[in-house]
Amino acid sequence: MADTLYFVIPCYNEEEVLPETAKRLKEKVASLREKGKVSGLSRIVFVNDGSKDRTWEMICELHEQDPVFSGICLSRNRGHQNALLAGLMTVRDYADFAVSMDADLQDDVDAVDEMIDKYYAGKDIVYGVRSARQTDTFFKRTTAHGFYSLMKGMGAETVADHADFRLMSARALDALSGFTEVNLFLRGIVPMLGFPTDVVYYERHERFAGESKYPLKKMLSFAVQGITSLSTKPLQMITGLGFFIFLVSIVMLVYSLFRHFTGATIVGWTSLTISLWAIGGLILLSLGVIGEYVGKIYLESKARPRFIIQEYLDSEHGYVAGDERKAQRE
Ligand code: UDP
Ligand code: MG
Repeated sequence: MADTLYFVIPCYNEEEVLPETAKRLKEKVASLREKGKVSGLSRIVFVNDGSKDRTWEMICELHEQDPVFSGICLSRNRGHQNALLAGLMTVRDYADFAVSMDADLQDDVDAVDEMIDKYYAGKDIVYGVRSARQTDTFFKRTTAHGFYSLMKGMGAETVADHADFRLMSARALDALSGFTEVNLFLRGIVPMLGFPTDVVYYERHERFAGESKYPLKKMLSFAVQGITSLSTKPLQMITGLGFFIFLVSIVMLVYSLFRHFTGATIVGWTSLTISLWAIGGLILLSLGVIGEYVGKIYLESKARPRFIIQEYLDSEHGYVAGDERKAQRE
């Protein structure tokens, strides 16, 4: 039997696009079933992220009309990443693999076919990566590229031009469930999982209807969230700065003494200058040292898995989570 696919679609005030999204996804699941690529148990799961419009009512209606649609309603708005996570963690017990997508049809539904082929070819994670950014405004394009460079420079590795349009196997979802941190940045965590991965290129369309829920302000806080939740590099940068200022203070020491002995200074300048730089450097250096420890505490408090086992070969005790679940279902 073919494997079971679950689409996971976070929705926040998406009443304008939902009917079209539902229609296209339903067609996609039907055609995939016809081709024998997914099982009849496959579902389309909408996660309502505390919408203030009719989104949840519409999801309920869709579910009543056709059991292929199901829905999860969060108690309040928790943001895209948390809505997505809620969906993925709910379906991981029923799905062999899940595809996450935005509700606004910006992600290409037809790229899913290629993703599924890669899944059957043994890939656990397939990233949808946009091939062109022509449909974006110049502003969005530049800020997005700035975002990826900034993230990289700050030690947060992400897949460039990939925005949560991705296929994940049950095994990868199980591994993801081990990351229990509250400040979770999915785009940075998923590459950390490992497993065989691949990418599928697609053209990102305009939003089908409605407005972006990610204005610049939210995008900036998203970048900050990404960096601070993934990396302790900003703290390490303080140490570097401290060292640098301390070196400068030595140069200043030589320079000030030189000026002092050539008599080109007024009384008190030499000692003031030297102490200013030296104390500044020492304070920054001390902050950096504290920062190193705070960084360690931060990472410890996240209690991330130290390793993830991909397979375990043992004739008596061999256990692969995804396969066992599949066997139970069949
Ligand atoms: N979204 C969400 N909760 C929010 C904001 C957005 O679930 O608080 C969903 C939204 O419904 C959409 C996806 O996240 O399916 C991406 O949002 P949007 O299209 O507005 O972002 P953009 O594509 O402009 O970056
Ligand atoms: Mg969008």
